[in-house]
Amino acid sequence: MISPPAPVNLKQPTEVDGFWQRLQFALLPPHCLLCGARGESSRDLCAACAADLTPNRTSCARCALPLPTPAALCGECLRSEPAFDAAFAPYLYGHPLDLLLTKLKFGHSLAAGRVLAELWIAALANGARATLPNAIVPVPLHATRLRERGYNQALELAKPLAREFDVALAPDLLCRARATAAQSDLDAATRRRNLRGAFEVDASRLATTRPAHVVLLDDVMTTGATLRECARTLKRAGVARVDVWALARAPHRR
Ligand SMILES: [Zn+2]
Ligand SMILES: [Zn+2]
Repeated sequence: MISPPAPVNLKQPTEVDGFWQRLQFALLPPHCLLCGARGESSRDLCAACAADLTPNRTSCARCALPLPTPAALCGECLRSEPAFDAAFAPYLYGHPLDLLLTKLKFGHSLAAGRVLAELWIAALANGARATLPNAIVPVPLHATRLRERGYNQALELAKPLAREFDVALAPDLLCRARATAAQSDLDAATRRRNLRGAFEVDASRLATTRPAHVVLLDDVMTTGATLRECARTLKRAGVARVDVWALARAPHRR
């Protein structure tokens, strides 16, 4: 049974949550992961470092590309319409967000993952545009990369979001059909070819869950090529609406 999309809503903390939070705060006072100063409001990030984060205030509604003024479609989306329906990326990729992401991706820092998820949840709760999907699908890593790194950072970030907003997490709905060359070395056209057929939908899993509205989740959206291919794969399999949630958006490199 699929419920209609609802506006993003934060869960109210219970008295029990409050007790454990106070106890944890007393035993382990929060410290900024970036500078070591006292953390702000039980988060491992200080107010000064939090102020250095750059919000993605005005962007393309379709692909979240930062723009001088908000627009329904940017030039890139007009030239080639993405398969996803909307994108929500609350921050711009840059300092000091890159340091927290590096700690999560390569330093296996669960504390960094928690800070990033908290920032993301707060931004989503304030974002009028985002609506809750029926399922969150983290962008999959190829098995080889997964073995090297030990875990998929998109899945680790998706877990607290799914829990907070009470949305099903569907990490096995989409999988990598094959490994792809590193995207960063390729131009746009080669990048698209490199990704064609790179993802597969698990048809039996889709048949049992039948989500009408899926959110594709990734830590950083750079060119959007990977997310475009993932969205195309989900749409072709019959998912009606696919949105993209990325924590940070990088401006295009030309
Ligand atoms: Zn700090
Ligand atoms: Zn766009």
